[in-house]
Amino acid sequence: MENKTSERELSGAKELRNKYDVIVIGAGHNGLVTAGYLAKAGHRVLVLEKREMVGGAAVTEEFFPGYKYSSLASGASALSPAVITDLNLHQHGLEILPTDPLIFSPQPDGSHLTIWHDVTRTADEIAKYSQADAAAYPQFIKVLRSYSQIMAVLNNIPPPDLPDVRWGDMISLLKFVKPVRNLGWEYVAQVIRVLPMPISDLLNEWFESNVVKGTIAASSVSNISWGPQETGTAFALFYNCSVSSNNLFKFSGRVKGGMGALTKSLANAAKSFGAEIMTNSEVAEIVMESGHAIGIKLTNGDLITAAAVVSAVDMRTTFLKFIDPYFLDQKIVKHIQNIKYRGTMARVHYALDELPSFTAAGADVQQLISGTVQIAPTMSYLQKAYDPVKYGRYSKRPYLDIQIPTLTDSTLAPEGKHCMSVTVKYIPFHLHEGDWDEMRGVIRQLVTDTISEYAPDFESCVQDCKVITPLDIEDVYNLPEGNPVHGDMTLDQILWMRPIPGYAQYRTPVHNLYLCSAATHPGGGVTGINGKNSSREILKGLK
Ligand SMILES: Cc1cc2nc3c(=O)[nH]c(=O)nc-3n(C[C@H](O)[C@H](O)[C@H](O)COP(=O)(O)OP(=O)(O)OC[C@H]3O[C@@H](n4cnc5c(N)ncnc54)[C@H](O)[C@@H]3O)c2cc1C
Repeated sequence: MENKTSERELSGAKELRNKYDVIVIGAGHNGLVTAGYLAKAGHRVLVLEKREMVGGAAVTEEFFPGYKYSSLASGASALSPAVITDLNLHQHGLEILPTDPLIFSPQPDGSHLTIWHDVTRTADEIAKYSQADAAAYPQFIKVLRSYSQIMAVLNNIPPPDLPDVRWGDMISLLKFVKPVRNLGWEYVAQVIRVLPMPISDLLNEWFESNVVKGTIAASSVSNISWGPQETGTAFALFYNCSVSSNNLFKFSGRVKGGMGALTKSLANAAKSFGAEIMTNSEVAEIVMESGHAIGIKLTNGDLITAAAVVSAVDMRTTFLKFIDPYFLDQKIVKHIQNIKYRGTMARVHYALDELPSFTAAGADVQQLISGTVQIAPTMSYLQKAYDPVKYGRYSKRPYLDIQIPTLTDSTLAPEGKHCMSVTVKYIPFHLHEGDWDEMRGVIRQLVTDTISEYAPDFESCVQDCKVITPLDIEDVYNLPEGNPVHGDMTLDQILWMRPIPGYAQYRTPVHNLYLCSAATHPGGGVTGINGKNSSREILKGLK
C-alpha cells in the first residue's frame, strides 16, 4: 500500500528523517497528553499543530483587548486526576478553580432551581417545586453514581475489538469484574436497561416537576446533537458523571487563565519530558510505504519520518484527507463516511461593563451565577428547542449554558469588567436556509434577547460581542461539522464502535498509525483519557 506521495516525488522536498520515534498530528489536549506519556517513556516525540496555538477545543483567546475567553470548552472537571498526577500538571501551572453551585436555572416566573455539589442542599432547593422530587433526588444521585462508577472503569480500558476478542482483552476486562461484583449484578442489569433510554423517559420515572427534569436533562444533551426525547440520551448523563471529578452530571470548575492554561500546562509537561511542539504546521498527508505509515508531509512540502504516527485529529480528516481512501478497504471508508457529526452548537462571548441582574437571583446574584447559568427551564422547553434542528432550522427559544468566569478569576478581564461566554443550542451546522454571515447577527440577537428575559438590564451591560458559529467551529477550530466531540456519542458510536467497529483499540488498518483524539474510546470532553489509553497501546507497538 503506497500513498499519494511516492519516494520519487519527495526528492527535492525538505526532509527530516529518523529524528523522531513518534509524530503526533494535532496539539489538542489529547495529542498533548499522548505526547507527554510517550516522551516520559523515553521516546523522541514531535507534535505538529495546524493553528498558531496549542489546545484545539481547549484554548484561551483574547477576543477584545484585555478580555480573555475559553473559546469553546470551559468546564474543567472532566480532566483525569491520573493525567494530572502522571504529567505533573500542577507543577506546570495548572490550577483548577472549583465552582459551586453547579447550575443556576432561572425560571420565567422569577423563581429558580439551584443545583449545588451538596446533595442535601440541592434536595432542599428541589422541595420548592416538589416534595416528592426532593425526597427522590438523593437516591437518584446515588444510583447515577453507581452506574457511572461502572462506566468509569470501562473508560480506562480499551474495549475489545468485537467480534475478535483476544486474550489480552479478557485480562483487561477482569478489571471490570471487581467493581461490578461490589455493586451487584442487579446494577448491571439496571445499567443495560437505562443506557438506551431517552433522558426524558428516565427522568419521568424519577421526578414529577418539569423544572427539575429540564434542569437535569439539559446536562445530558449539552455535548451531543440530540434532544432529550432521543434514544440513548440517558447514556450522556452517566458518561458526564463517570468522567467528572465532581461525581455529578454537569462539568464544573474552571481553569485559572481559561482552558488554554490547561493545554499550556500539558504542552509544558510534554516539553519537560523532551517532546518538541511545532505550531503553524499543517499536516497534509500521512506518508505510507507498503501499508505502513512512515511519516507525514506538511502543507509546505516538508517530509518528516518516524517509527509511528499518531493522529490526534478526527477520523474523517485522518482517513479521508490525510490518506487516499483508494488505499483503504472500502468497508472501512464507508464506516468513516457514515460517522455522525452534525454539530448543533454555537458560542457567543460578551465583554461586559458590569454584571447583569438576573431577576431570579435577587441579592445572592454574585454567588448564584458563579457556576453555570442554564436557560433550559423545563423539559418541554428543551425538547421544543431541539425540534427545529431536525428540519435544518435553528431554535428560536434556545437552550443556553452561560458562564461568567471573571467571577472566579478576575485576571481574565480589566478591573471591574466581566467576560461572559454562552454555549447556544440548537443551531444546526446543516442549515436548511440562510447563510452563516446572516446567522451570525441572528444568533447574537437571539442570545441577547433570551438572556434579557431573565436579566432585563443585560443589553445595557454589553460592551462587545463575538459569535462563533458551527461553521467557525469547523473552519477555525478544525472540528468537522462543528461537532464538539469528533462524532456524536450516540449508542452506535461508543465503546467498541468508537471510532468504528474493529478499531476501538487506538490502532488502525494502517500499520504504525494510531489514534488518540475524542473520536476514540471513551469519547469527548477534556478528559485526557483517550490520550492516556492510546499511549499505552502505542508503547506496546514501539517495543
Ligand atoms: C463549544 C464547545 C463546548 C465544549 N464544552 C466542553 C466543556 O465545558 N468541558 C469539556 O470537558 N468538554 C467540552 N467540549 C468538548 C471538548 O472540548 C472536546 O471533546 C475536546 O477538547 C477534544 O479534544 P481533542 O484533543 O480530542 O481534539 P481537539 O481539541 O479537536 O484537537 C485536535 C487538534 O488537531 C489540530 N489539527 C486539525 N487538523 C490538523 C492538521 N491537518 N494538521 C495539524 N493539526 C491539525 C486542531 O487544530 C486541534 O488543535 C466542548 C466542545 C465545544 C466545541
